Amino acid sequence: MGGNEHNREQTEFCARNALSRMAVLGIPPTPENFLVWFCYFANRPASLKTAVDRLVGDGRAIDAAFSEEIHRRFFGQEAEAAEVMEASETVDALLARLTERVSAQARGAEAYGGALADAESALKGGDIGGIVSRLVDETHRMASLNREMQAHLKAAGSEIDTLRRSLGEAREQAETDGLTGIANRKRFDYTMRGATKAATSDGEPLTLLMVDIDHFKRFNDTHGHQLGDQVLRLVARTLTDCVRQGDLPARYGGEEFAVVLPRTTLSAGRPIAERIRTTLAARKIVRRNTGEELGGITISIGAALFRPGEAPAALIARADSALYAAKRQGRNRLVVEDETAA
Ligand code: GH3
Ligand code: MG
Ligand code: MG
Repeated sequence: MGGNEHNREQTEFCARNALSRMAVLGIPPTPENFLVWFCYFANRPASLKTAVDRLVGDGRAIDAAFSEEIHRRFFGQEAEAAEVMEASETVDALLARLTERVSAQARGAEAYGGALADAESALKGGDIGGIVSRLVDETHRMASLNREMQAHLKAAGSEIDTLRRSLGEAREQAETDGLTGIANRKRFDYTMRGATKAATSDGEPLTLLMVDIDHFKRFNDTHGHQLGDQVLRLVARTLTDCVRQGDLPARYGGEEFAVVLPRTTLSAGRPIAERIRTTLAARKIVRRNTGEELGGITISIGAALFRPGEAPAALIARADSALYAAKRQGRNRLVVEDETAA
């Protein structure tokens, strides 16, 4: 027989005896009276049975007044005080557990509300119920704070996304040449630092082209700066058209351009440079408003190969020397650094 089963039989036995004894003695079956006689048969507390037996032994009449007196003594205010003490200790422990859980709630444990609601229904009727009820309210409040917090975080997140995007756009703009729309000097310098570092560490070749428009001063003087600007845009577009993905054409300054060719040897860079030069030479400059053809424009190009470990400035200087050689040799040509002496 299980413990619960035993308790149940025991309880039924006590209840039956209490009811029949009350009937025999003509005691009204109120809950208070029933409690007294139930406890008497249950021998719980033992002091109650002892007290009843003594009073009976003393010849006291066992009637409703007798039951009420016993009830008052064992379950009245004094008795209640002791029980309240015991209960308040339980409440303290309960509150401690609940406080702990409220903290857990702050970390997002919404299921806690359900657990507290269960506790509430179990403790209904007393002050504990009230406390738990308030805690349940508090928990719901915290859960909604949590949700608000999450909503705020989400909003903040998308705000951060927007900021990051516009920051990226601002950076992109800060590194773009306003006239030609290709990378500016700043982006070129940045790219060169990364490209030379990578080439040094992975041993891949890196070629740099320096590009300069031939007799550009003369062009400006003849046709005006606005057409000069149009030429700059044409050169930029041509560079962009002729390079591969991963290469970087940039406006180095004024009418000079540069092209960074990562993982590219001089012999692989040569056809790229030649394609740029011949493509541009084949394009015609047309005055937009009149349609007048102004003839072609040419560029000179110097190419140099990165030497592992050297600074970006050293590579730029050697490509510039090659460019200078191209100018000396008559312009509209490519000079690769080893041919500078020619
Ligand atoms: P070379 O063939 O030796 O390079 O002769 P060049 O005339 O091209 O060289 P120089 O350095 O004497 O002249 C460069 C000219 O480029 C002078 C300047 O007016 C022009 N230039 C530089 N930046 C711009 C620009 O943003 N717009 C225009 N329209 N012209 C520019
Ligand atoms: Mg120049
Ligand atoms: Mg020039």
